[in-house]
Amino acid sequence: MDRPIAPYVIPWKGETTLPGDIAVTSAGVAYADPVQDALHRDLDGVLWAMCGGTATGGPAYAAELHPERQKTTMEGLLCAGCKEPGDRDERGMLWILPLLDDAADTVWEGVHTAIPPMCATCADRAPRLCPQLGDGHVELRVREADQIGVRGTLHPRPGEPGEPDPNALALYDSPDLPFVIARQAVRELRRTTVVAFAAAFP
Ligand SMILES: [Zn+2]
Repeated sequence: MDRPIAPYVIPWKGETTLPGDIAVTSAGVAYADPVQDALHRDLDGVLWAMCGGTATGGPAYAAELHPERQKTTMEGLLCAGCKEPGDRDERGMLWILPLLDDAADTVWEGVHTAIPPMCATCADRAPRLCPQLGDGHVELRVREADQIGVRGTLHPRPGEPGEPDPNALALYDSPDLPFVIARQAVRELRRTTVVAFAAAFP
């Protein structure tokens, strides 16, 4: 093995999302190639970013989670680190999240996240690999984690001024949803229990 083992959802520097030729109509955004369009729609009809490149160049911890692997793990409630099932106990499923800027005031109830759950092994290991978790994190148990929408690029409607918004949250009941090319599935964490806070590693 000549490369470090990175958590499953972390993209590699050689991996990219591909822009693709798109068309925006009053019905929404679509890939110009109907085959590509069909291949990249999920069961809810949401269009997803096309992924390209190869797992080379080392893990890109500062980048957004890899869209295909994030979707797979988040939708399946699989571990972000290893794709095994997320850990469950009587308090719910295990989530490890970076601390927010105002961590002291954060209510970890109803928080929206694009980070999938973790197994117990990866929960121990991930903060030592991932700088964002290593800067301090919270360990949560979560009883309800409904998937509420997607984060991605929101395209203006035809005739609407303005540039695409590259970092929009579109809920499943939003009229914006057909105009988004998704990169991350988002869950809302409810009935949460804070198990522990971890400070930044020295
Ligand atoms: Zn794991």
